[in-house]
Amino acid sequence: MKTPDAFSMMPDEWKAYLLSQGEKAFRAQQIFGWLHKEHVFSYGEMTNLPKVLRDRLDAELPLHSATIALAQRSRSDDTVKYLMTLWDGEQIETVLMRYHYGYSLCISSQVGCRMGCRFCASTLAGRKRDLTAGEMVSQIYAVEAAEGVTVSHVVVMGCGEPFDNYDELIRFLKLITDPAGKNLSIRNLTVSTCGLTDEMRRFADLDLGVTLAVSLHAPNDEVRRQIMPVANRFTMEELLAACRYYTDRTHRRITFEYALIRDVNDAAAQAKELAGKLRGMLAHVNLIPLNPVTERDLSGSDPERVRAFANILEKEHIPVTVRREMGQDIDAACGQLRRRHSSVKEG
Ligand code: SAH
Repeated sequence: MKTPDAFSMMPDEWKAYLLSQGEKAFRAQQIFGWLHKEHVFSYGEMTNLPKVLRDRLDAELPLHSATIALAQRSRSDDTVKYLMTLWDGEQIETVLMRYHYGYSLCISSQVGCRMGCRFCASTLAGRKRDLTAGEMVSQIYAVEAAEGVTVSHVVVMGCGEPFDNYDELIRFLKLITDPAGKNLSIRNLTVSTCGLTDEMRRFADLDLGVTLAVSLHAPNDEVRRQIMPVANRFTMEELLAACRYYTDRTHRRITFEYALIRDVNDAAAQAKELAGKLRGMLAHVNLIPLNPVTERDLSGSDPERVRAFANILEKEHIPVTVRREMGQDIDAACGQLRRRHSSVKEG
């Protein structure tokens, strides 16, 4: 049986629950506000609720917030990486980054991942379980409460494949943008996928206004299949067709993530090939040298290679940004912190 997850409940679900308990409907807004606006993590702190109601909620709808187990602060920038513990003891990672426009939080969507990308530490032990929407929002609230900051941008780019947990992802997006709660602007949300094309199309049809990031990492199927098993399920042509569908439906520019891996996907000819594939698309390429992962035999490209790759894309009129690597001194690559602090075994 699914454990009731109070942080996942929408205002109308609170209302239905409270009415079924013989309570007044206005309590729904109060409780939703405490959870999603006031950073309250227990019913005991909801001072405007009658004690009997608080006790009943405690017994019936436990609050399963993610809690911070460990915070690693970068010395080179303001990045903080958190190891978070969930109610059942599973652990995930969340990363806070400070930009000129405010605080951005990178949240996890699953415990582990089953996509199997060869360069990624999150996937080494497979997927343990999906996160609930409540576990996704509570990563944000736990960090805001601990740091005393307001998170203005959220990227679903931590551990897990968000489109492999589609329904909870959509619920998360609705919760976090609800005007009665955190009320985050939908424009400040980014979802990153390794390219599950069916879900990308379903997501496009919703036209929520979210930025879609697609982890491409290769200029063709041959290279992509070497590093991303998902490329055996969908060809690059199918993937790019789904991307075009997204931009056609939403008129929003897609971000292509491209991690440069030495001697795998960083040659000049590969930059040209990539430019050819992306020409004419409403898109932007984010280049980043691969973050080395201890368990993997792949290394990041040298800065000169990164620059040369970017120059070719620029010359071919493909919008490109070389991303700065944040928090390199704190195991910033996906899944590294969790692996170091738990007994996750390769399986
Ligand atoms: N599953 C989703 C989101 C999580 S991964 C996706 O694939 O997009 C977030 C991003 O980090 C992806 O672009 C992923 O390919 C990239 N990534 C994973 N491991 C990395 C590493 N060691 N160095 C650089 N980028 C990495």
